[in-house]
Amino acid sequence: MSTDTAELAANWAQIRRRVDDACHEAGRDPASVNILPVSKTFGPELIRAAVGLGLRRFGENKVQEIRDKAEPLADCGIDWVMIGHLQTNKARDVARLASEVQSLDRLELAEALDRRLQQEGRAIDVLVQVKTSHEPSKYGLPPEQLPTFLDSLRRYDTLRTRGLMTLATHSSEPAEVRGCFRMLRDLRDRAVMQGHDLPRLSMGMSGDFPLAIAEGASELRIGTAIFGNRAYPDSHYWPEATNES
Ligand SMILES: *Cc1c(COP(=O)(O)O)cnc(C)c1O
Repeated sequence: MSTDTAELAANWAQIRRRVDDACHEAGRDPASVNILPVSKTFGPELIRAAVGLGLRRFGENKVQEIRDKAEPLADCGIDWVMIGHLQTNKARDVARLASEVQSLDRLELAEALDRRLQQEGRAIDVLVQVKTSHEPSKYGLPPEQLPTFLDSLRRYDTLRTRGLMTLATHSSEPAEVRGCFRMLRDLRDRAVMQGHDLPRLSMGMSGDFPLAIAEGASELRIGTAIFGNRAYPDSHYWPEATNES
């Protein structure tokens, strides 16, 4: 179950190779696809080992976990990226500790983050999480609200909107999964035509990243394939099952 340093190094080399292969398959430059390691549920020791491999950005889906890990890893210069559902009342910790939020999905949250970031005197990158699947309990902005939402975000100086993020449907049918990724890319392309600068598409995880690469992902959020299986995969995998963050 638990991943040691040698295993971590092997996993990292292997996933980078698989990503590069998928890029070649899709006719894309591997340098155009980043991997965001998702360290949720794993402790500071393993993250420190990942830092030893040259990794500096880590995705977490709970504010509490960032809080718990930031202190013992304060010497590592880590950029913590929030990728999970975010309650408005956690905005203060996020403004203090996160370098980026990929799960911005409502105006009330943008408002709260902006207020706290102003107090901290900081600005952060944000991605808008869009709901591209029909699963009722997944978080994310309804796609039809995206144009208005992006216009509204222009008023927050502390939030640099850099792109879109999505979780694909949990399906064994590749066409359905790919349809989610395609929808996100189409939404981005349309928004760019409306004058928004949105270079980043965060989509694809351990189980579906080749499809995301084929549809234009600029960033994959990879947990299991790097760090191994989580002790509580379900409670941390699906945002609706997390009762705190
Ligand atoms: C856990 C998580 C991931 C990574 O999932 P894996 O299947 O372990 O690669 C990606 N995105 C989000 C939002 C997550 O919560």
